[in-house]
Amino acid sequence: MSQENLLAITPTQFVSWLKERQIRRFHLALNQDTGQVFASHEVLQPLADFINNDTRDFDTHEGLFFQISEKQETLQGAFVHRTCRGQAAGGVRYWSYATMEDYLRDGMRLAKGMTRKNALAGLWWGGGKGVMAHNPDQDKTDATLREDIYRDYGRLLSALRGCYVTAEDVGTHVVDMANVFSTTRFTTCIPAELGGSGNPSSPTARGVVSGMEAALEFAGLGTLEGKTVAVQGMGNVGAPLIGFLFEKGVSKVVAADINPSLAENLRASLEGCLSSDQELETRIVDVGDHSILAEECDIVAPCATGAILNPTTIAKIKARIVCGASNNQLEDAARDDAALFEAGIIYVPDFLTNRMGIVNCANEAYGYVNNDEFIERHLQRDWEHSVFKTTLQVLEGAKSAVLPPAQMAMKLADELSLQPHPVFGHRGVRIIDSLLNDRWFNHA
Ligand code: NAD
Repeated sequence: MSQENLLAITPTQFVSWLKERQIRRFHLALNQDTGQVFASHEVLQPLADFINNDTRDFDTHEGLFFQISEKQETLQGAFVHRTCRGQAAGGVRYWSYATMEDYLRDGMRLAKGMTRKNALAGLWWGGGKGVMAHNPDQDKTDATLREDIYRDYGRLLSALRGCYVTAEDVGTHVVDMANVFSTTRFTTCIPAELGGSGNPSSPTARGVVSGMEAALEFAGLGTLEGKTVAVQGMGNVGAPLIGFLFEKGVSKVVAADINPSLAENLRASLEGCLSSDQELETRIVDVGDHSILAEECDIVAPCATGAILNPTTIAKIKARIVCGASNNQLEDAARDDAALFEAGIIYVPDFLTNRMGIVNCANEAYGYVNNDEFIERHLQRDWEHSVFKTTLQVLEGAKSAVLPPAQMAMKLADELSLQPHPVFGHRGVRIIDSLLNDRWFNHA
């Protein structure tokens, strides 16, 4: 099949195409000497050629590894971007894709995003992402289906010998992580009863608070005390965030959600915690209603969905600062980052403030201590890679370089991502080399 055709078919059609050729596992890997991506199988070279010619999402990814899951015929991928700082780490997404091109692009883009998030957090982990394509003919809520595909995903990771270590992501739940863990050691974010670190939402909310404090300091606006904050979403992150903000002395929070019961839960949890000069206003909105972003306030905190910062919403923002937990808040990374910058709105890049999810689980294998300094230091002011310090560094750097902050953060992250792990060096590429030498895909 030509390159165009292979890219245009659905992942499910691609699975059939692979099966006809009796290919169950394959890779598209970077030759470190030539800088060119090559396929494990001749017939798949058109996909490698597509990647070689791509300048949007491909950025010298070290290796992309795939399999068809044995029982449920799902296309499963492990996208390894960069492993200088350590094994590639990032969650596994279970999502629907219209075409193979969409699938490959999403995996490459997300893997590179993890390299940046991990490097900026000062973690000794590289960047990678897992992506499994949902077959629309299958009911993805079916427990047996999920058990099969996540166990098979673990088998893929075992076959990859640790060049990629997975975690939870969109479409993947904690019970799925237990299934991954049943077939591989190369996973984090497992349930607490199996030795995992548990729900990261509260630390994530604390990371957002740190980002807000740094942005206020950068703007010369003092502390959170007496400020008004608008929060979009009262879910896992939004709810604890609001509690922490009141603890910091904000005078008012206006919060919106589409789910009325969350507003009631939040009110109940804050009962008796607010002082007489503090106020919580909750609003129930329709999906697609982003009016909360246009609230008259000091800080807007998007903690619901992505792509909410776009020309329509940015034009209405009255706050000086945007700082929240949602992933991919900018609808168009370059355009909307620049638009916020030009409008004088201080945007704290999401991949900087919402790092605590990965920080909380990345080092699970090293055991647990109370008030773990390796977690707490991310939330303190002094550590060089803390959310506070990094946010200040990014905002100040952006100001002096006249560069929008997300661009500045990516520049800094890219530099950090090339630092070799202090103990293991660039071991990830050696793992990949070993896999290729041993023709890992034949051991399915
Ligand atoms: P969640 O699903 O628990 O909460 C999101 C809330 O947003 C839900 O209550 C939902 O009803 C609400 N919502 C949806 N559309 C809305 C709208 N138009 N207006 C107002 N509310 C709306 O998710 P979460 O775990 O709290 O995560 C929030 C965001 O932060 C997500 O984008 C997530 O990817 C990101 N994030 C979360 C973590 C974490 O530790 N949970 C870590 C990193 C990033």
